[in-house]
Amino acid sequence: MNKLKKGCLIIFSGPSGAGKDTILSKVMAKKDNLKLSISHTTRVPRENEVNGKSYYFVSEKEFMEMVKNGEMLEYAKYCGNYYGTSVVKVKDELEKGNDVILEIEVQGAEQVMKKIPEALSIFVLPPSLDELKIRLKNRGTDSDEVINRRVKEAENEIALAHNYDYVIINDDIEKSVEQEFKIIELQEMKSQKMKHIIDEVLNSEKNINR
Ligand code: 5GP
Repeated sequence: MNKLKKGCLIIFSGPSGAGKDTILSKVMAKKDNLKLSISHTTRVPRENEVNGKSYYFVSEKEFMEMVKNGEMLEYAKYCGNYYGTSVVKVKDELEKGNDVILEIEVQGAEQVMKKIPEALSIFVLPPSLDELKIRLKNRGTDSDEVINRRVKEAENEIALAHNYDYVIINDDIEKSVEQEFKIIELQEMKSQKMKHIIDEVLNSEKNINR
């Protein structure tokens, strides 16, 4: 019976600075079976970011090679850099019965929703755009120019929040963590239904361009 167990695939989006990372790390601390998919990106690492932990930092050539080989479940260009989710790890963790969370922006999320409509999708909203700007400034990792670009991008992203199964307004971190935790627990109750669909989509990726 255990062999049949499959994890849930969860899409988690929201503008940069909405608090996704904080919510995620707190939810993951409460749930052993929740694994974060480590994305590939062509973005330059920020201070304190470790290759293979925050992201796999790759060149544009390497990234495009992966796309060409059908290794990406989804990918997108965001603020001038490519970001993508490699199929292999996601499949591995789901097979083990773990839930896998994809912390991805809206274009990539749309691709996953189309390929795997049964995936759970959650969008995190900041209480306001002003608050978002303040959070990005306080983070101190990006220049003013980058922050302005990210706030502009946030407006486009927020306009697509209605495509998600759930929206969390992050005005209180503990409340947001509790909400996300509950949503995931509910999804786990129906995860068995996803098994064959996930298999179909993830296996088909391997055959692209071959
Ligand atoms: P950051 O540069 O702040 O780390 O990430 C910028 C945006 O890219 C965030 O919204 C983040 O969720 C998104 N992102 C990170 N990894 C991926 C990925 O693999 N695919 C897509 N489509 N977006 C990603």
